[in-house]
Amino acid sequence: MVTRRKVLASGAATVAVVAWNQTTGTWVTAAEASPGRGNSSKTKKVPSQIADRLVTDSAALATAADDFGHIVSRTPWAVLQANSTSDISTLVRWANKVGLKVAAQGQRHSVFGEGQVDGGVAIDMTGMNTIHEIGSDYAIVDAGVTWAQLVEAAAEKGLTPLVLTDYLNLTVGGVLAVGGIGGNMNQAGMVVDNVDAITVVTGKGQVARNISPTRRRGLFDASLGGLGQSSIITRARVRLGPRSELARIYELTYSTAAAYLTDQRTLVTDGRFDYLEGQIVANEAGGWQFKIEAGTYYNPAAEPDDDALIDDLSPDVDTVITDFPYDAWLGRVGFAEIALRDIGLWDTPHPWSDLFLPDNGLEDYIANELLPRLSPEGVGAGVILLYPFRTEKLNRPFAVVPNDDIVWAFDILRFPFDPTLTDTLLAENRALYEAAVATGGTFYAIGALDTTPREWRRHYGRLFSSVRAAKRRFDPRNVLTPGQGL
Ligand SMILES: Cc1cc2nc3c(=O)[nH]c(=O)nc-3n(C[C@H](O)[C@H](O)[C@H](O)COP(=O)(O)OP(=O)(O)OC[C@H]3O[C@@H](n4cnc5c(N)ncnc54)[C@H](O)[C@@H]3O)c2cc1C
Repeated sequence: MVTRRKVLASGAATVAVVAWNQTTGTWVTAAEASPGRGNSSKTKKVPSQIADRLVTDSAALATAADDFGHIVSRTPWAVLQANSTSDISTLVRWANKVGLKVAAQGQRHSVFGEGQVDGGVAIDMTGMNTIHEIGSDYAIVDAGVTWAQLVEAAAEKGLTPLVLTDYLNLTVGGVLAVGGIGGNMNQAGMVVDNVDAITVVTGKGQVARNISPTRRRGLFDASLGGLGQSSIITRARVRLGPRSELARIYELTYSTAAAYLTDQRTLVTDGRFDYLEGQIVANEAGGWQFKIEAGTYYNPAAEPDDDALIDDLSPDVDTVITDFPYDAWLGRVGFAEIALRDIGLWDTPHPWSDLFLPDNGLEDYIANELLPRLSPEGVGAGVILLYPFRTEKLNRPFAVVPNDDIVWAFDILRFPFDPTLTDTLLAENRALYEAAVATGGTFYAIGALDTTPREWRRHYGRLFSSVRAAKRRFDPRNVLTPGQGL
């Protein structure tokens, strides 16, 4: 039995560890090790390749036990500062032998402990941050590279990733593990749909390089949007396309859900905009209004035709049109981060709700479930996203969404002013989720939702047997990514 006291005692170590004592659940330092204690039945020697990068000091453990949600905290017994695919393979093979769990951590922008590991080893991926190659329409990058770094490097060649999340300080691996959604999705699918090859380490510790839809498809499919259950992604080939200089953003504000949904359905169906999102925002009367946020990327020589883009939409809207340098547009949540840090809300609890809703039944859900439950206090300085995309653009089976031609991303990105609201908001997340399930909705596995085994099964539906088969095949000892609770 390993006690918390022992864990903390091991966490105080500042020197390299050379072995793991399975019985006491403590690390053995070089000074403590004796020839007789090398690889006994209780004491398992740490492979020399990773020994000096296996960190056990309390500051590193505390960092790995936290994330952007600040709600769940699980402390690992060590953090591997990974330098290479081979480091990760060595760790995972060893973890299989000694019975430790392992989880990759990118920027730790999960909100509910998805990358944490209670006992076991967290892998800090941020040292694996090399951009290896930028070709005419692709980039080959390590999984610890952030999307912001990739955007900057691609810009030097006049290129940009085809689909981006709203916030770019997330790692390539962290986003590929969950799927990756954003306003370009209606044109090109999720972020995972725009990755053609990956290198991974399976839950057995085997390295599979350059796997793709034509090379080890089973492992490729199980890894993209696979929540780190089958493998740890170490490298990816990401599609790039030409980059424009400017973004023209159209904000159209509607007083009724009906007009908003009608116009969003027109836009999502004909795909006239490069970028399409939308929000529910509080109005001055204490109610809610709806805002389309649509964008066209362009160069000064070819200005967008505003009339052609919005004249056929509802006349009953407030319209604001703004031009942004493309970089400033992509960096918009980064600017919001500065403001949120200034008012002290970046490091407080973030019980986010993240769901996908089918188009069919959306009016009822909004009127009877969503609006009655929303409160400005529960959103705080955050935003409520509600925007559609066409599912015909999606090709990665493990990144599941509801079964409909049009699906809506519905996210309450909560930054509450009152941190004591967390439990109430977690209960609200659950109520919104259960009501969504009743209409055929699913969750997006980045939110603060405690999901039961039965709900996971329902989440995957007919895919569930494939998910289970992949886990058995690629991670038979259930070593990887316990924080997803799958
Ligand atoms: C401010 C903010 C804005 C956001 N905006 C968006 C958005 O617009 N669209 C969107 O889709 N998401 C968005 N997210 C959610 C974000 O994409 C996910 O939480 C993402 O997983 C975080 O990436 P990360 O690098 O911080 O990963 P982490 O939080 O460190 O890890 C996330 C999960 O992936 C696993 N993992 C990490 N790296 C790897 C790897 N290399 N291989 C396998 N598994 C791995 C972890 O174990 C964990 O389970 C946002 C989050 C924040 C905080």
